[in-house]
Amino acid sequence: MNKILVAGAGGFIAGHLVVALKNRGFLIRAVDKKPLNQWYQVSAGVDNLVLDLTLKENSYRAVNGCNEVFNLAADMGGMGFIETHKAECMLSVLINTHLLMAARDCGIDRYFYASSACVYNSERQTDPENHGLRESDAYPALAEDGYGWEKLFSERMCRHFSEDFGLVTRVARFHNVYGPHGTYDGGREKAPAAICRKVIEKELDGREEMVIWGDGHQTRSFMYIDDCIKGIQDIMYSNIKEPINLGSSEMVSINQLVDIVEGIAGYRLKRRYDLNAPKGVRGRNSDNTLIREYLGWEPSIPLKEGLKQTYAWIREQMVRDREMQKTNTADDKHRH
Ligand code: NAD
Repeated sequence: MNKILVAGAGGFIAGHLVVALKNRGFLIRAVDKKPLNQWYQVSAGVDNLVLDLTLKENSYRAVNGCNEVFNLAADMGGMGFIETHKAECMLSVLINTHLLMAARDCGIDRYFYASSACVYNSERQTDPENHGLRESDAYPALAEDGYGWEKLFSERMCRHFSEDFGLVTRVARFHNVYGPHGTYDGGREKAPAAICRKVIEKELDGREEMVIWGDGHQTRSFMYIDDCIKGIQDIMYSNIKEPINLGSSEMVSINQLVDIVEGIAGYRLKRRYDLNAPKGVRGRNSDNTLIREYLGWEPSIPLKEGLKQTYAWIREQMVRDREMQKTNTADDKHRH
């Protein structure tokens, strides 16, 4: 029976991946550096380990005894985080380096690496009418500073471990992923979760105005987590040897994204545009020609559908947080 290492399992995407692989009957070792009580999902019947995978000995400990590796561990966040933590993002190179070395030395059969659309040349992303980034648009290289360069370098390391040592590696370039059981506050959240949170704050806290980063005309595509999890597994067990896009091609502006979330909530907020906030590239979309050719499939869950699920989950968390705060304040008053 295969035993699979899922690295970064306390995080958003890998947490969902563990659930999906477990449902398929695989044995799983789930690893993250965060304490277990901070994991978004902790699956029962799984070998859950807290290890910092930047350390070589921890990577060997994590890989030893497994046949396959999914590496989704990285220090990352939305634009607000990656534009201000470039060195920290680049240090994730240690995770992929040590996991690849351990995979080579422990005889791993297959290795998956989670790359990103941030590897693409930023000069191809200056127009909001982006017609879709093709895989070849990563070169000549001018990736997102810090985070994107680390991803591009790590992709190439996978390629050379494959060429030089015969390790089977698969690389997917994720385009913005969203869904339940992910970050929605604290500074690492991405646009869909941040916008849901800001809209819900009107209902729960009476906040009337929403601050939008940039002028709202910048464009992106957003992939719902279920499409991402299917894509990761299909790419891992395919014959696709080159890095491939895994993203939705339903492109919207940030203003349209806000319209959809407000439509779900049933009310609108006043919008204030912060032109000095981090905003990333002007236009980004996924060209899905290659994935359609290889898999006869592409991510297709409509943004509106996925956002309904995401909004409901974030609202549930925010209501629960506020109830807990009230109980704690009442307890404190009681004690004094
Ligand atoms: P996430 O931050 O929710 O999960 C990443 C996890 O990696 C975290 O739980 C973190 O604690 C863990 N980690 C960080 N450093 C570690 C270390 N040294 N040892 C062990 N664990 C460590 O992020 P996510 O959104 O689930 O992203 C997963 C992967 O997908 C990452 O590689 C990310 O770069 C990539 N990606 C995500 C998106 C997206 O939209 N979410 C887009 C492109 C690429």
